[in-house]
Amino acid sequence: MNKIRVLPDNLSNQIAAGEVVERPASVVKELLENSLDAGATHVQVDIELGGRRLIRISDNGEGMGREDAVLSFERHATSKIKTLEDLGRIETLGFRGEALASIASVAKVELITKNESETAGTKVLIEGGRLQDVKDAAHPGGTIISVRELFFNTPARRKFMRSEATENYHLASIITHYALANPGVSFVFTNNGREAMRVAPAKDLRERAYQIFGAGLIESMLRVEGGREYVANVSGYVSAPRERRTSRDSQYFFINGRFVKDKLLASALSEGFRAVLPHGSYPVAFLFLEIPLEEVDVNVHPAKTEVRFRRAEAVKDVIAEAVRKSLVNSGYIQTSIETELEKSTTENYREENYAAAIVGAEQARIEFVPEIADQPHTQNIEHLQESDSQEEVFQTDFESAATLRANGEVENISATQQNVLVKETSVYEKREYAVIPPVDSATKLVKESEVDSLTANILPIGQLHESYIIAVDSEGLLLIDQHVAHERILFDKFRKKESGRQVESQNLLLPETLDLSPAQAIAFDLVESELEALGFSLMRLSGRTIAIKSIPADIPSKEVKNLLSEILDTVDQEKRGNSIENIRDDIAASMACKAAVKVNMKLTPEKMRWMIDNLLINSAATTCPHGRPIILRLTMKDIERGFHRT
Ligand code: ADP
Ligand code: MG
Repeated sequence: MNKIRVLPDNLSNQIAAGEVVERPASVVKELLENSLDAGATHVQVDIELGGRRLIRISDNGEGMGREDAVLSFERHATSKIKTLEDLGRIETLGFRGEALASIASVAKVELITKNESETAGTKVLIEGGRLQDVKDAAHPGGTIISVRELFFNTPARRKFMRSEATENYHLASIITHYALANPGVSFVFTNNGREAMRVAPAKDLRERAYQIFGAGLIESMLRVEGGREYVANVSGYVSAPRERRTSRDSQYFFINGRFVKDKLLASALSEGFRAVLPHGSYPVAFLFLEIPLEEVDVNVHPAKTEVRFRRAEAVKDVIAEAVRKSLVNSGYIQTSIETELEKSTTENYREENYAAAIVGAEQARIEFVPEIADQPHTQNIEHLQESDSQEEVFQTDFESAATLRANGEVENISATQQNVLVKETSVYEKREYAVIPPVDSATKLVKESEVDSLTANILPIGQLHESYIIAVDSEGLLLIDQHVAHERILFDKFRKKESGRQVESQNLLLPETLDLSPAQAIAFDLVESELEALGFSLMRLSGRTIAIKSIPADIPSKEVKNLLSEILDTVDQEKRGNSIENIRDDIAASMACKAAVKVNMKLTPEKMRWMIDNLLINSAATTCPHGRPIILRLTMKDIERGFHRT
C-alpha cells in the first residue's frame, strides 16, 4: 500500500494559511495589499473584537467580474503574474495568489465586488474553504471583503490569538504602515465602531506623517534624500538625535512601496547614525527605497516582509550615506570622522572636569594596562591623515571589534580589527602612547562581579572618563558603570512603587500635549492606569492627543515625551508573554533609563557614595534591567598576577 497521498485542497490551503495568516493583522495586510494592487484611492478597515469577530476591508479599486470573484479564492489564482520572467520583476504587492485561498480556509468570508464592465455586482460566500453561495448583489463598484470568525475551524491557531488589545495594536500598526507608504490614498480605520484613524489623501509623505503622528514628531524629523543609479534611491525622514527610542519599533522601511522588516536596512540606518546616538538608542525613521525590480527578490518569505537584495552591501551603503548626509546638512555631525574624533576627544578629556573628582590625585587619565603583551606597539596620530574612505572602513572595523570585545568574543576578533582597536585607542589619546593590545588579556583579568561579593567598605576614588566610578575595597579595584548602576537603583524604586508605596509626582508648569499614533493610542488605553500609578497624570484629549499634567518626580521634564512614546511603542504584550508584570517591568525599565545619570557626566564624590550605598541595598545589583553588567572587578590577586608578582 502506498503511504504518500496528495492532500485535499482544503487541507493544503489551511497549511498555507499557517504561513500567511498568522493573526488578524496579517489578514488585514493581505487585504490592504489587494486593495492597493487594485488601484484603490480610498480604503476603509473596520475591526471588531481585535479582528476575532470581524475584519472588513472596503475599497474603490477596480473590482472583479463574477468569474474572477469565484476564481480569486482558488489557490495559486492570481491576475498579477503570468510567466516565470514576471517573477523576477514583481511590480505588485501580491503575486502568489494564495492569500484569499488561505484566509477563506480558516474563516467565514463574504466578498462583494463589481468591476466596470459588469452591470451586476457579485456576492461570494465561502466558509472554511468551502464555497457556499454565489449570487447577484447590488454594489456600486470596488470590493468589500468581510472576514468573520477567524480561525473558527482551527482551534490550535485560535488559542494563539492574543488579547484584543494586543491584536489591536498590531492592526493599528499595520494600517499605519500602509497609510504611510501610500500618502495619496485616503484611509479610514474603525475599531469596535469607534474611529481610530481617518486620513484624507495627502500630497506627500511629510503631510501623511503629519496626519498620523501630529506636528510634534514631524517637526523634529530630518529629510533624507539620496541614491545611486542602478542600486537604489532612498528618501524619507529620520529623527533628529534628540528624539530617540530604545527599540527599533518606530522605524518604518518600505521597498518599492512594500512594507518590509529587514535587518540590513535597520543596520544601514544605525550605520548612518554611528557616533551620533549613544549605544542602545535608535532613531525614528520612515525610509522609502526605490530599487530596480530585478535587483530585489520579494519571493523569499511567506508574508513577503523580508526581501533579498542582489547587491546588499551597495544598498546598505546608499542608505547609510544618505542618512549621514542628512545629519551633516542639519549640523549634527561634522563632515569627517577626523573632526568627530577631535571633538569627542576634547569633550571627553577636559582634564579639569574630572581631576576634581579624583581624590588626592592629579591624574589626567587612568589607564588599565593589563597583562604584558609580546610586542607593545607605538602608535601616533599620523593615522588621522588617512583618507575619508579609509576612515570609514577603519571605524566600521573598530566598532565591530569593540562589540566583539564587549561581548567577550575576543577569539573572533581578526588581526585587522586588533590593529584597528589599538590604533583607535591611540588616535583617541592624541599623543604618543604605548598601547598594548588589550583585548584578550583584559578579559582574563577583569571580571563581572556579583553583588553578594560586595562589602560595605567600598570607597569611591574617582571617575573614569566621567562614565565609570572607580572604587576600591579590601579585595581590589572596582569599576562601576554609572548609568547602568543608577538605572538599576531606579528600576527597583519604580517597581516597588507600583506595589503600593506613595508616589512622588511633579506638576508641569504648563501641561504638555503629545500626539499619539493610532497604535500608540491603543497602547495608551492598555497602560494608562499603570502610568497613573507611577505618578503620571495624563488626560486623553480629542482624537489621538493626550495632555501630560504631571510626571514622576525622578523624570527630567524634557525627557517625558520621549519616554511616553517609548513606553507606548514597546507595549506589545506578546513580546514578553502576556503578563502585566512584564509590562510593568518594561515601563519601569524605560523610566529608569530616562531618569538615570548618563555617561560622560561628572559626578560629585557624594553622588558616587550615594550610588554605591544604594547599589548595595539593591536586590540584583550586578545586572541592569536590560541585563548589562554593572560592576567589573580587578582583584588584588589578578593585579599581582598581572604584574607577575605571583
Ligand atoms: P495575489 O494578490 O497574490 O494575486 P490573492 O489571493 O491575494 O493573490 O488575490 C487573488 C486575486 O484576486 C488577485 O490577483 C486579484 O486579481 C483579485 N483580487 C483580490 N482582492 C481584490 C480587490 N480588493 N480588488 C480587485 N481584485 C482583487
Ligand atoms: Mg494578494
